[in-house]
Amino acid sequence: MPETHTLERAYRVRLRPKPEQVRMLSRLFGARRFVWNWAHRRKDEAWRTDGTKLSGVDLSREFTQLRQAPETAWLSSLPREPFNQTLRDFDTAWRNFFAGRAKRPRRKKFGTVMSARFTLDQRRPGLVDIESGSVQLDGIGRIRFRVTEPMPGRLRSVTVRRDSAGRWFATFTADGVAIPESVLVARSAIGIDLGLKETAALSTGEIIRAPKHLAAKLSRLRRYQRSYARQRDAALLRIGLDSKKAIPKGTRITPSNRMRRQKHRIGRLHAQIADARRDHQHRLTHRAVALANVVCIEDLNIKGMTRSMGRRAFRRSVTDAGLGEIRRQLTYKAQWTGRTLSVVDRFFPSSKTCSECGAINAGLKLADRRWTCVSCGTDHDRDWNAAINIEREGLRLLAVTGPEGRTRRSRGTDAQGEDSCAIDTSPSVGQPTSLNCELAYRAAPPRPTRTRRNGPARRVEG
Ligand SMILES: [Zn+2]
Repeated sequence: MPETHTLERAYRVRLRPKPEQVRMLSRLFGARRFVWNWAHRRKDEAWRTDGTKLSGVDLSREFTQLRQAPETAWLSSLPREPFNQTLRDFDTAWRNFFAGRAKRPRRKKFGTVMSARFTLDQRRPGLVDIESGSVQLDGIGRIRFRVTEPMPGRLRSVTVRRDSAGRWFATFTADGVAIPESVLVARSAIGIDLGLKETAALSTGEIIRAPKHLAAKLSRLRRYQRSYARQRDAALLRIGLDSKKAIPKGTRITPSNRMRRQKHRIGRLHAQIADARRDHQHRLTHRAVALANVVCIEDLNIKGMTRSMGRRAFRRSVTDAGLGEIRRQLTYKAQWTGRTLSVVDRFFPSSKTCSECGAINAGLKLADRRWTCVSCGTDHDRDWNAAINIEREGLRLLAVTGPEGRTRRSRGTDAQGEDSCAIDTSPSVGQPTSLNCELAYRAAPPRPTRTRRNGPARRVEG
């Protein structure tokens, strides 16, 4: 295995800003929103007056003038770097829009910008003290953070963020992180079937469930949101407006104390739910790379739920299951541990194929948790059966095409010896087998998003 391989990583730590730093950062966030919306307006104006397309460079130049103008001079009391990042993000957002990858960028509403990114100048050593936990930010000063893990690599940037519960975090990105030597484990492969409600079935028969309190928290969140909506309606009524009719643009509601309190509760609950989810996802992805050398998973978009559910419910369930996040974690964890990630096509019928005889049960419904194969009589647990099929299909794909990372590299310069590797593709359910070659593959990079844009999914139940 080449030792020169390094990777990029991120470290998230809890920040402990002082009260005056909190004030500065909050001002900075507000100013970032101001600059975003200013850039938006400028781009619009320029286009409307004479059809000029303002580029990122143009905006950056204009921004320098804006900082010097007397009425916006307050901008110059704040560090420049986060604004450069804002303008860069703005430019990217438009480029993504014109390339058809994203929606049209919008103006940002009050209170929606809650972060700022700073690059860490490599020529200035000592900006980050990873031993005692502090980071020096231009214009803000030195902020302390809680040290929770060693942070190897070259730290390139830091994003400071406030969450909806008012907690402060910093995310450092690092490159040049050495890949730890991988340890092969006994099981060659594992399949993961991601279900609804944050459960995941592994082909080992193991089920990884969401934290118990998550469902309770979600229902509490809905209750709080309903009560907040009622309070808001009442507040509207007090100023003579009917919440069921269109509300004039720019209407300002003075929140009552109860509304403020409720809003704070909602924010705290959102943060707790996000924490519980993250915890669950990390448990699952950690377990997967700890168990097997090849991890097989389905592509984004959960099976066959597109039409049977309302749009809202569908969107919710997708975000709930956090597939994208699980995929992202598996990708980097596979890279750290020298595992291979195999992604199975989302139209592969993992649920309705019998993992014993291969017969397809076309009549399987979403509600059927158990079913019996008519050809061989095997009694199946729906999710476990799907996980076994995903494992098998993932291994088959690897044998046919190889991991994406490898195919790309073998076209390039260094493909020494890798093609001679053979993977044992026999399913390892029940009897652990091992790969009969040294794992020379690296995790596949995330696929281009093209699969997601191909319109509504065909109705094929997986
Ligand atoms: Zn069967």
